[in-house]
Amino acid sequence: MLEWYVTQGAKHTLALVPSALREPMGLWRRSRAVLQAETWTRERIRAERVQRLNRVLSRAVRHVAFYREHAPGGLPLRTVEDLQHWPVVDRSTISERIDEFRSDCLPKWRTRGGATTGRSGVPLGVRWDWPGALWWEHAFHRRLFRWAGLPKGFRRVILRGGLVHGPRGPESRWWQVVPQHRALVLSVFQLSHATIEPYVRAMARFQPHALLAYPSAAAKFARLVRERGLSLPPLRAIVTSSESLLPEDRAIIEETLGATATDFYGHAERAVAAAQCEHGSYHVFEDYGYAEILDAAGEPVLPGAVGEIVATGFHNRAMPFIRYRTGDHAAFSPDGCACGRAFRVLSILEGRPPEYLIAHDGTRVALRFGLGSAELGGIEELRFFPRAPGVAEIRYVCRAGAAAPSNLLDSLRIRTGDAIDYRLVRVDRLHAGPGGKAVLVDRSEYRP
Ligand SMILES: [Zn+2]
Repeated sequence: MLEWYVTQGAKHTLALVPSALREPMGLWRRSRAVLQAETWTRERIRAERVQRLNRVLSRAVRHVAFYREHAPGGLPLRTVEDLQHWPVVDRSTISERIDEFRSDCLPKWRTRGGATTGRSGVPLGVRWDWPGALWWEHAFHRRLFRWAGLPKGFRRVILRGGLVHGPRGPESRWWQVVPQHRALVLSVFQLSHATIEPYVRAMARFQPHALLAYPSAAAKFARLVRERGLSLPPLRAIVTSSESLLPEDRAIIEETLGATATDFYGHAERAVAAAQCEHGSYHVFEDYGYAEILDAAGEPVLPGAVGEIVATGFHNRAMPFIRYRTGDHAAFSPDGCACGRAFRVLSILEGRPPEYLIAHDGTRVALRFGLGSAELGGIEELRFFPRAPGVAEIRYVCRAGAAAPSNLLDSLRIRTGDAIDYRLVRVDRLHAGPGGKAVLVDRSEYRP
């Protein structure tokens, strides 16, 4: 417990140093590049795209085993159409031969990583180069916050899937101040009818400019606030990410919290990103990665037609994602945007709908747990099968020779408390879910 207080004290002291002095040069340079890219013309975007793709592809051919074997040759690309000779890869392919997709150009200490289950229940151990990819991500978040109309160094309340660390361990209390980020983190797992009033009081005391949240968490928060008739401090913006922001959720969030929601679309794989500008259009970040929209046969679709987003990231040297199937569907708009930026606009974006289980008391428990490789190690695929309110079976498949996960249940209980009873069942394989796709939650066997 003492250690926690010492760390917390150190963070408060660090926060006294002006942020301009704390900021590494690499982050400053990337932030400036990200700002400048917004003035690019369409011609400039096309030229930069080919140049960046050539950099990513030639590095992959030299340093990534899969591409040493499967690259079609013909580098450098002359136009972006030449990229269509490169193989399209999906999550399962990469997960099965993960070592062949990691670059050997960096020593392990120059990389960071984590596992994500995504919405398919197939964990993927992603690695990023460090600190470069981290700084890039940070710089692109600054763009998002700028588009949302937030000032530099704004105060934020965070309601996402991360654990709240208190003096007695994770989730030992429901709030945490992170002074160096000017953030108040609220636990999404302890948010309920019983706790909503103290949550709102804590928020009012903190005087935030913005709420950064998962759409499902922000919607739950807004519904609880409305049911209790509570009043909130004024916010300048709400920033949502990591799940699709459903129209009905957007309506209740904006009405109840009294600010516009700016939505961000991205992935742990960091191959594609898009965000809403001041006019509400979703712009693809053309300096982040190259997004294609392909039909079922792998051919590019025309503007206005819906297809799958297949993306190539520009900024991760540790594990390049090249023509990666995201599983998300979208359409390019044939029109530009009134904001004047030349970044392509998505007229339709069907990302990940929030996955959830129903708790004993009938409330929804969002399944964005942020489980790491420690909890998921050895699991090839897992899926939740709801049995009754508050009861769910987790069926999982282990990699050949791997042991069953020892701390998965504990990790889930820290996050959902008594809301859900879990039962772990090891199986040899999981059949494809509805529509032939792998899913994280399968309700097909549940008859209420
Ligand atoms: Zn715009």
